[in-house]
Amino acid sequence: MKVFKFGGASLESIERIQNVGKIIQSFPGEKILIVISAMGKTTNELENVAQNYFMRKREIAAQILYNIEQHHIQLAEKLLGVHEHPLFTQLQQFFTEAEWTLGEKPIRPYDYYYDQIVSMGELLSTAIVSAYFNQVGINNCWLDVRDIFKTDDNFRDANLDWDTTQAIVNEKVLPLFNDYNIAIAQGFIGSTDQNETVTLGREGSDYTAAIFANMLDAESQTIWKDVEGLKNADPKIFQDTVNIPEITFSEVIEMAYYGAQVIHPKTIKPLQNKQIPLLVKCFLNKDLPGTIIKEDADVRQLPPIFVLKRNQVMISVTSRDYAFITEDKISDIYDIFHEHKVKIHLMQNGAISFSCVIDNNPEKIEQLIKSLHVDFKVTYNEGLELLTVRHYKNGLLEEKTKGRKILLEQRSPTTAQLLVK
Ligand code: ASP
Ligand code: MG
Repeated sequence: MKVFKFGGASLESIERIQNVGKIIQSFPGEKILIVISAMGKTTNELENVAQNYFMRKREIAAQILYNIEQHHIQLAEKLLGVHEHPLFTQLQQFFTEAEWTLGEKPIRPYDYYYDQIVSMGELLSTAIVSAYFNQVGINNCWLDVRDIFKTDDNFRDANLDWDTTQAIVNEKVLPLFNDYNIAIAQGFIGSTDQNETVTLGREGSDYTAAIFANMLDAESQTIWKDVEGLKNADPKIFQDTVNIPEITFSEVIEMAYYGAQVIHPKTIKPLQNKQIPLLVKCFLNKDLPGTIIKEDADVRQLPPIFVLKRNQVMISVTSRDYAFITEDKISDIYDIFHEHKVKIHLMQNGAISFSCVIDNNPEKIEQLIKSLHVDFKVTYNEGLELLTVRHYKNGLLEEKTKGRKILLEQRSPTTAQLLVK
């Protein structure tokens, strides 16, 4: 059994959906569970619906929702080449449910309504793809993942109930593969024990696929993307990036920790725990080798890996009375950061000072500084960039930071971090 995940970009047009069909047809006879996210930028548009609804701008919300409906219906009609098909009844049900939500007066927290509205993107995309696949002979079964993935009610970032979900997977999903080779499920969503829809956090479909792979004991998971594979840096920021043919789970976790937007960070654990390799492949050219992420990857040839965090702020805290910044003071400082939910990317301390690097979030920083100011002198420096280089080589850091001012620097044998202006 394999698990595949297709994201929004692979489904943003008729040609691309047809292309996904061709990819599936190139795996004849294989059992594949396919996880699909919303088409193109649908999730962003639905977020817009949710915001307008909650701000009581119901007409604007309804208008955006209507546009999403029309777009999906037109695309489905063209893709299937018909105006009548059970698919359209199914789509209509999803729209009607969303319209009901918009008709309610918002009395529950925003996150609840967000999930009821935004989850629609995945329901629409999977229904359309499933109907199309059946039409072109890719016989498949459509699953409503909300009947399978059971979570708590932490809306917008729900936590999976692993035991209950595993039991449902064993009972309902595994037997389906006696009758079908292909099953199609939504990424990103689930439901509570009260059957209220939840989402698992933005970009959560990679994670959904990893959960399925873990629970189905899949031989591998493949994420189909519009790039060649994992690269050693973001090609939108760095020149001369190279593809990484193989890499370990732990290296990918480190990359994500330092801020690389490669794969949803929660994806790795379910796969690593069962030693299921993760493949990153290009849907535009399935014959490219892509990247394989596995425990025993050969990392001797790994190129230096770059991660750049932009728009960083350095906060420096000094004691007022020249007292040393000792463990108890550092603990107090950390508590303040924790209280304000501010994540520290890099820290350094001296005799009477403590400096750290954080994202520039003006509202949070204002509150944070207020709290720190009670006991400390605080200065801050904005407009900075934090460059992390894993597996750096001599001369490389100098070359990358030439002509720039370095405000903070930290190195271990494998990782260098430089804060530059
Ligand atoms: N559609 C959701 C999002 O855009 C989930 C995903 O794409 O993984 O965040
Ligand atoms: Mg997406």
